[in-house]
Amino acid sequence: FYLSNSSWLRHSGLAGMDSVGDTLQRLRETFSAGRTRPAEFRATQLEGLGRFLRDNKQLLQEALARDLRKPDFESEVSEFSMAQHEIHLALRNLRAWMKDEKVPRSLGTQLDRAFIRKEPFGLVLIIVPWNYPLNLTLVPLVGALAAGNCVVLKPSEISKNMEQVLAEVLPRYLDQSCFAMVLGGPEETGQLLEHRFDYIFFTGSPRVGRIVMTAAAKHLTPVTLELGGKNPCYVDDNCDPETVANRVAFFRYFNTGQTCVAPDYVLCSPEMQERLLPALQSTIARFFGEDPRSSPNLGRIINDKHFQRLQGLLGCGRVAIGGQSDQSDRYIAPTVLVDVQETEPVMQEEIFGPILPIVNVRSLDEAIDFINRREKPLALYAFSKSSEVVKQVLARTSSGGFCGNDGFMHVSLASLPFGGVGASGMGRYHGKFSFDTFSHHRGCLLRSQGMEKIYSIRYPPYTPRNLRM
Ligand code: NAD
Repeated sequence: FYLSNSSWLRHSGLAGMDSVGDTLQRLRETFSAGRTRPAEFRATQLEGLGRFLRDNKQLLQEALARDLRKPDFESEVSEFSMAQHEIHLALRNLRAWMKDEKVPRSLGTQLDRAFIRKEPFGLVLIIVPWNYPLNLTLVPLVGALAAGNCVVLKPSEISKNMEQVLAEVLPRYLDQSCFAMVLGGPEETGQLLEHRFDYIFFTGSPRVGRIVMTAAAKHLTPVTLELGGKNPCYVDDNCDPETVANRVAFFRYFNTGQTCVAPDYVLCSPEMQERLLPALQSTIARFFGEDPRSSPNLGRIINDKHFQRLQGLLGCGRVAIGGQSDQSDRYIAPTVLVDVQETEPVMQEEIFGPILPIVNVRSLDEAIDFINRREKPLALYAFSKSSEVVKQVLARTSSGGFCGNDGFMHVSLASLPFGGVGASGMGRYHGKFSFDTFSHHRGCLLRSQGMEKIYSIRYPPYTPRNLRM
């Protein structure tokens, strides 16, 4: 690492804290001067992000490969193209999104102008996890910059190679007066959170989400919390097992299962399980070959801590498919577990790895009860050839997002809000929802000084005439 660029810092101890304070002060001054407000300035930053992606594609792809051994195809669809699409969308719609939004008026405000102004919050902090370290950096950043904010970015220290590329390269593409990067782990982030921000956008675990929200409460700072959890996947008896196996396995094992919206466990009848297991077996063999360890299509677990945690989960229930692991390579085979008890760790914590437990339920009602007894998930999946069954699951449960008969395709649509509910988070983003998240919606009424005679009927001394107003 070289630390010469003053727009980003790896800080430690008191001296570091002072320089973070100075950096935040500098960003605040930029914001107060109104520099980030014009559409042209915002567009220039967004174009910078686009150039950053194009100019450094290989470097970024290598970083993703080194951190997660992410296959290029997965990097392309889930990191680059989503970020590029968000940049493109924001650039195309920036002026329309920024426009004051006229609202209907009442009888008493007919002569006035009433509108919602979308104004930037000011200084925004974005905290990023390691699993989609480029997407989850750039997509919120697009929203924050499009909305005219100054931004402090805290990438994940765990995806080390991406952290390094972001720190060294990204600041060159953005105006130094409105953007800074702070590097570090839990301790440094804790210190950073003592400072006052105007908005905090956090993506990560529910445990750290609580820490962030507690710190934000001290300054009454609004937050978006994009968290995780266990995403149920209900498979009805009325399904084609091969199709379900393809779709569930693709989205479970994508990014080696390290996806916040991955189907976390399957709920199905014992009969469906009997049909699904051979289908999953042949799907996994088709996707990753007979020896998935040598497959170029399967990534690796991010670090030893997560590897050990996942290895522990392999001891839950009974291994029906896979189950092999190798610490030296942080390899875990695509695995399916059966005979799993609800009380076992694999059904208590978010799995975040290539392990799929199947839990048996006897009916749709029992599946819905099972889902509703637990925290509200970030995503929920229901598979059935009967649209009635899918509609029932949708109507009788709650989750951040929902997809019928597939995995996390709903996340790829920028016209849908993406975010959690309950324990899976609060707030939403993607597309215009990002712009709105990073904007204060200011309710404005503009009235002239005329018509005082008419308006004076509201003033005291009150008479029955006031009530007729
Ligand atoms: P994490 O909560 O451990 O870390 C996220 C960020 O918080 C990192 O930048 C980290 O440096 C910082 N951090 C860690 N400990 C901290 C502390 N004590 N105080 C302050 N900051 C701290 O999450 P992770 O392991 O990087 O990512 C995995 C989690 O993120 C999973 O739960 C997953 O579901 C969730 N996630 C959610 C989404 C979403 O969009 N909802 C997307 C990706 C990941």
